[in-house]
Parts: sequence; structure tokens; C-alpha cells
Amino acid sequence: DKDRGMVNYFWKAVPVPGAAELMNRIDYGGRVAVITGAGAGLGRVYALEMARRGARVVVNDLGGARDGSGEGSAAPADQVVAEIRALGGEAVANYDNVATSEGGENIIKAALDAFGRVDIVVNNAGILRDKSILKMEPDNWNAVLAVHLNGAYNVTRPAFKAMKQNGFGRIIMTTSAAGLYGNFGQTNYSAAKMGLVGLMNALKLEGKKYNIKVNTIAPLAASRLTEDIMPPDIFARMKPEYVAPMVLYLASDACEETGAIFNVGMGYYNRTAIMTGPSIQLGEVGNPPTPEQIHGNWEAINSMKGALESEDLNAALGALMAPPAAASGGE
Ligand code: NAD
Repeated sequence: DKDRGMVNYFWKAVPVPGAAELMNRIDYGGRVAVITGAGAGLGRVYALEMARRGARVVVNDLGGARDGSGEGSAAPADQVVAEIRALGGEAVANYDNVATSEGGENIIKAALDAFGRVDIVVNNAGILRDKSILKMEPDNWNAVLAVHLNGAYNVTRPAFKAMKQNGFGRIIMTTSAAGLYGNFGQTNYSAAKMGLVGLMNALKLEGKKYNIKVNTIAPLAASRLTEDIMPPDIFARMKPEYVAPMVLYLASDACEETGAIFNVGMGYYNRTAIMTGPSIQLGEVGNPPTPEQIHGNWEAINSMKGALESEDLNAALGALMAPPAAASGGE
């Protein structure tokens, strides 16, 4: 705890006077957290840290291979539950597959059976099957979409029901820089990860009146999913412990944020968003514009100058159809 009250800029610790006193301690006071894929990597650290701060945790992990193949094993989830209990925390293991709707129902049922409620869901389970598009057979596409995107839907839907009843919920999606920005050889993974952003965008609106906050992180951390992708010197600095604090905050009662996406890794944190540039209007009633006008106005259409975020679809359409200044014909 000696780092509390410090802000780290590029690995230099800068003291912040009184910050420790100003911050309220994040404590889960018996709230129930479901963390998928918590038998290893990032999910394991989220589970340990939340349990250390008083959350009762469902440690879900089917214990499969990195590419989702094979039989699965109870060992990873059991191991993390044992670690939590050794710390004096409360946890139960669950080995269901997030990729099926039955699995999702069972995971939430495990929380309700053991602890009687669900307050927090961290959709974290993941696999990789990287291939360039021509080698991306339907199997590899479908398996990755099933775990990441369908998995979040399968677990979140029954959880939302319980959260709605309680008037409280914190849901965290795990996206990736590969989806947000693109990465060669990961069409399946990138599509699934961006799909989670769409899931969040709609769900944040549905959760609003029930105090259900939905946020998304794009983590960077050393794990079996990244060990052969990252240069070794960088890999050594990428502890999941630098990602966990953000997840812990977003999962807490203190978090008022909803619908946001954060890049998180190695002690660096920033927010990213879907931004929309200024709109221009072409053509008139009964006289649609021509492709030549599109070409002629390309710079303006393509501009992101003064780009803004939109709260929802209506806000975005409003901004589209009420441009600050209508364009003239073809400059
Ligand atoms: P990891 O492989 O260490 O952990 C993922 C866990 O999910 C594994 O223990 C695995 O058994 C479990 N799992 C896989 N399929 C499952 C299923 N169908 N049902 C239940 N459990 C399942 O990987 P990690 O790096 O800790 O990744 C965690 C999440 O973070 C993933 O969603 C990953 O895509 C995402 N992510 C990680 C990084 C990174 O740098 N590590 C970057 C971007 C995104």
C-alpha cells in the first residue's frame, strides 16, 4: 500500500499531497462478483483483488487450451478459489463454458446458489485463433466469436435480470486494441472485440434506470495470450496487477461512469471513444447528390475536425442532420 497517494507518470512516482486521504477506500462489502475466465491471467488477479476487498467471487473457468480446444479442467478455477480462501476471502469455482447460453445461465445460477445475488460481472474469458483471412476457416471464426461475444451475452443476460431486481449492477466488457484499432491476422478476434463495444453501447442505455453501469476495458498484460506476441522486455513489465485497479474501480459502488472504453496496461490509462466528425449536407429535396459531389466534397466528408462523441443513436443522428454549417455545392 505504500504506493497509495502517488501518481506515476512514465514510471516516475510523483507524490500527490493528501490524495490518500481524499480517496475513499474501494471496498465491496459482500457484493457478489462473477468473473469469467478467472482461472488464469487477468481474471485471476481481478478475482484475488476483489476478494481481498470483501467481494464474494464466482471464479469461472473451463480450463481449456489457449485456442479453446481440448477437454478442459477444473484445476485453474479450483486453484484460484484456494488462493482466495487462503487469504480469508469467499469464493466458489464454476467450470461452465461461457460460449453456450446454458453455460451462461449456470454461471449466474452458481452465484445465486452460493451467495444469493449478483452485483458485478467481468466478461473476461477469451481464446485466440489468429489467422489471416484466407486461412480463417469458419471453425476459427466461430469459436472466437462464440467465446468472446456470445460469451458476454450469455453471462450478462441472466446477470442483468438479477441486477435489475437489486437496482445495482456493474458490468465490464473486455475489448482489445486489436478490435478498436485493427491488428493483422485477427479478423475473428477484432470483430468479436468490437462487437462487445456495440453490446455495451446498447446495454448502457438499458441499464441506466437500474443503476447498472456498463464499461469496457482494452487491457494489455502478460499472459499466455500475449507471451509470443510481445517483445520480451515489454512482456516483463506487463503485470495484470496494473490492469486490475481499473477493473476494480469500474466494478465498485464508487463508479458513476457508464458506456466508456479505457485502454489499460503497464500503469498507463486513457479513454478512447467512437468519435464523429462534423457533417455536411449535399443535394436538395427531390434532387439527391451525385457521386461526383461526394468526390468533390471528400475533404469535408472525411474530416474529423472537432469530432464529438454521441450519447446514443438519437444524439448522433441529431448531429448528422443539424450540421453547424451546410456545405455549398462542390468546393
Ligand atoms: P488467459 O488465457 O490467461 O485467460 C483467459 C481465461 O479464459 C483462461 O483461463 C481460459 O481457460 C478461460 N476461458 C477460455 N475460454 C473459456 C470459456 N469458453 N468459458 C470459460 N472460460 C474460458 O488470457 P488473458 O490475457 O488473461 O485474457 C483475458 C481477457 O483479456 C481476454 O478476453 C482477452 O481477449 C483480453 N485481452 C487480453 C490482452 C492481454 O494483453 N493479455 C489484451 C487484450 C485483450
